[in-house]
Amino acid sequence: MWRSVHRYSSRLQQHLTLQTIRCTVARHCSQSAQSGVPYETNLSTASTTDAITAPPSADVVIIGGGSIGCSTLYHLAKLGITNTVLIEKDQLTAGTTWHTAGLVWGLRPSDTDIELLSYMRHLVGDVLEQETGVDPGWINNGGLFTASNKERLDEYKRMGTVGKAFGVESHILSPEETKKLYPLMNCSDIYGTLYSPGDGTIDPAGFCTALTRSATKAGAKVLTDCQVTGIQTGEDDFGTHRVQGVETSGGTIKTPIVVNCTGVWAPNIGALANVAVPLLAMKHAYVVTERIEGIQNMPNVRDHDASVYLKLQGDALSIGGYESNPEFIDTMNNDFAFSLYDLDWDVFSTHIDGNVQRVPVIGETGIKSTVCGPESFTPDHKPLLGEAPELRGFYHGCAFNSSGLMLGGGSGRELAKWIVNGRPDLDMYGYDIRRFSRSLVHDKTWIKERSHEAYAKNYSTVFPHDQPLAGRNKRKDALHQVLSDAGCVYQEALGWERPGYFTPEGKAEIREYDYYGSYGHEAHKDYAYNDRLRDDYTFEFPKHHNVIGKECLAARNAVAVFNMSYFGQFYLTGPDSQAAADWIFTNNLDKPVGSTIYTCMCNKAGGTEGDLTVSIIDPMAVSSPLAPSFEGRGFYVAAGGGVAEHVKSHMQTEIQDKRFQCQIVDVTNEMGVISIQGPKSRELLQALATDFDFSNEAFPFSSHKIMTIAGHQVRAIRLTFVGELGWELHVPNDAAVDIYQAVMQEGAKHGVTNGGYRALDSLSLEKGYRHWHGDLRSDDTPLESGLGFTCKLKMDTPFLGREALEKQKAEGLKRRIACFTTDPSLALLGMEVLRRNGEVVGYFRRADHAFALNKGIGYGYVQKSDGSTVTNAYLKEGEYTVERMGEIYPAKIHLKTPFDPSNDRIKGFYE
Ligand SMILES: Cc1cc2nc3c(=O)[nH]c(=O)nc-3n(C[C@H](O)[C@H](O)[C@H](O)COP(=O)(O)OP(=O)(O)OC[C@H]3O[C@@H](n4cnc5c(N)ncnc54)[C@H](O)[C@@H]3O)c2cc1C
Repeated sequence: MWRSVHRYSSRLQQHLTLQTIRCTVARHCSQSAQSGVPYETNLSTASTTDAITAPPSADVVIIGGGSIGCSTLYHLAKLGITNTVLIEKDQLTAGTTWHTAGLVWGLRPSDTDIELLSYMRHLVGDVLEQETGVDPGWINNGGLFTASNKERLDEYKRMGTVGKAFGVESHILSPEETKKLYPLMNCSDIYGTLYSPGDGTIDPAGFCTALTRSATKAGAKVLTDCQVTGIQTGEDDFGTHRVQGVETSGGTIKTPIVVNCTGVWAPNIGALANVAVPLLAMKHAYVVTERIEGIQNMPNVRDHDASVYLKLQGDALSIGGYESNPEFIDTMNNDFAFSLYDLDWDVFSTHIDGNVQRVPVIGETGIKSTVCGPESFTPDHKPLLGEAPELRGFYHGCAFNSSGLMLGGGSGRELAKWIVNGRPDLDMYGYDIRRFSRSLVHDKTWIKERSHEAYAKNYSTVFPHDQPLAGRNKRKDALHQVLSDAGCVYQEALGWERPGYFTPEGKAEIREYDYYGSYGHEAHKDYAYNDRLRDDYTFEFPKHHNVIGKECLAARNAVAVFNMSYFGQFYLTGPDSQAAADWIFTNNLDKPVGSTIYTCMCNKAGGTEGDLTVSIIDPMAVSSPLAPSFEGRGFYVAAGGGVAEHVKSHMQTEIQDKRFQCQIVDVTNEMGVISIQGPKSRELLQALATDFDFSNEAFPFSSHKIMTIAGHQVRAIRLTFVGELGWELHVPNDAAVDIYQAVMQEGAKHGVTNGGYRALDSLSLEKGYRHWHGDLRSDDTPLESGLGFTCKLKMDTPFLGREALEKQKAEGLKRRIACFTTDPSLALLGMEVLRRNGEVVGYFRRADHAFALNKGIGYGYVQKSDGSTVTNAYLKEGEYTVERMGEIYPAKIHLKTPFDPSNDRIKGFYE
């Protein structure tokens, strides 16, 4: 039906200028518009490359012939995997890809995105046409981001600065310089612009044709006019649920791997295999203007503050943006192909003022056509990639949040490596399906609220401490209300509410999502939590800097209590549990009961897939959250709550692939963690558990005991994440409030303070402890990140990643983490660029203010431009600087943590 009504629709909406549309919309509720995509050709009339008979088997089946499907097929072929089939229900590009605006920017506020975008520009600029003879339509007219306020320009300066670490050219221009570059632009109200000459646009038909031309030449198959109707799954002889085949209108293909690249249809394909695909389809649009004299060769423009973009379209402009009331699409029909929706001017008209304000001639220019299509959006505006934890062999490759062309090239490359090597090369955790909690991926309200907010805020300034207002209060631990009453300002992580910091300004509770006043909702007024978020809308020290400092200094000088109950907690038991622990964890787990071991987990390439603690436990006679009953060896694994899904999935996958007879029992929802840290922690706990001896001799660092506090059994583990004397109390939920209150009551004698994760982040950085997915990621090995001591390389025990680490050790490290400190007045946030003797050698992965040292502190990986070994001598001999928002400052390198390098405080020696 869609096809008959709208297919190939390209009639023009003549004689209507944006100014008149604004008036018309004001008078009438809805203004229907004809549609027309501004590309000279599309692939809607292409003939199928093969007869529609599916081959009986394939190594990989990709479903969906859009940007990401074609790119994945191409990159699999580049890795030598050509027994592959791409299945497309219509013709290539028929979904969202054919009508894309095709913009490719070079800079985004994420290092991974910048790397993916750099690769994309290389692919379309230097590779595809040379390789295939097909022009991907790359037009390199540059990009200009306009800033209407200081914070926005600061954000651009930050992006431009980190771009230097990846060789991305950019310039901050004054309003006058901008006017010279873009004479039709109104520059009277701007602070400045970021000009990125490498940006441009591509043609989707050319891009996908070039990719598939190359792949099919190498042996891959493309089946068009072929629909996937079923996914066959089953259990292997170990009981693991796996993909077995794909049913199509052209027959069944036996395959162990299916890649779901079906864009807005991806939830339908997921449903065929009972796999959750947490995305929301929405309508997204741009309009194409009539000819504009003088616009030729102008760069593309993003006016983030007005939430609009202007793309050069020959001698006209394509104009689009992000509104706060996008239209949701409830169901995506299978016969929707090369189709568009009528543009709802009531929704789109919000962009008119912004566009006309930025380029006034637009107001006098006619609209040639409108393009309104379906696109998929996710709860955090990042795509969904990687293997589904619930079904082995089912890979996600979808949900590109209106960036699927520019990110398609690089994402396809990483996805292909993921399939072939088990892991991508880049740090793709931000795209990995396992960044979401299993408890939320089926929650339609959460998906809708969060995806809406992420869409509406797509062009908002990305402040480092911002938090969502949508989809909150989904996972609360036992201490949530008590801490809320104490002024806790919560952060969200994996759906959990975890303490951010404690404000003296009173309660800051999180309310039901108000959709920012859209869809008939009333926008909240007097919203204290939102006010606290706004206090952080700066790239300088935020308003609560000193409040967080107080929490940090309490942990350093007295005692602080951190609620870490969102931690992931798992028991690993069963006949092969020791063998599994030996294989999965890099550290030696062959230790006596009572030991607690800090360890990494690696992938085959030696990249770090997590850092966590494992305690070797005795069974309980009767299973309890504190320990199950089991025979043989038992391990209690505790991992940072924000990455717990990833940690669990990594362990599970290895157990399945290596066929270890053991199980993981997840007690995350049944347990809390109260961490008591600081010089007074021993006295405090000793008073609460008088039967136990908390001395170094009786209770050494890295050990644990079951004890009774406030009438409840707890597991006390002597550990610290802040570099102080301290213990974590792992407690069943029903005991958490009693224990917390007993701790606070006793702690009052010692000046106890509540602390949140803002303080924990600063304290851990000051001490030099890593955060997984911050200064330690899957593209960093433990050796590079200074965690070689967690790897049992001196023993004979095999473990995952061992060979790669041995090789790296033998060859010498080509990149190494180092600590840098700066003047205390410098607000460091991460992504600042590091130079050694004037040459760029890296950037800060994580940076903050160190309150006890009273310095700016950051950790970054140092790498030489010639790729040779980075030695201690090389590190020590350099003169270092840090570039922050375009300004350069001196920095001092430290090969050891500058805070308590001999670990005296951890041992309780405070003299
Ligand atoms: C108005 C608009 C402007 C945009 N502008 C930009 C931009 O400037 N830059 C940018 O990078 N991105 C932009 N995007 C986003 C970009 O176009 C998309 O992210 C991208 O095209 C998505 O590609 P895909 O391969 O994931 O999905 P799609 O292109 O939708 O491909 C999915 C394919 O799966 C097929 N399929 C579905 N079900 C089945 C089945 N059962 N069997 C077989 N095949 C099936 C469909 O027919 C379809 O061809 C824009 C999007 C819109 C809507």
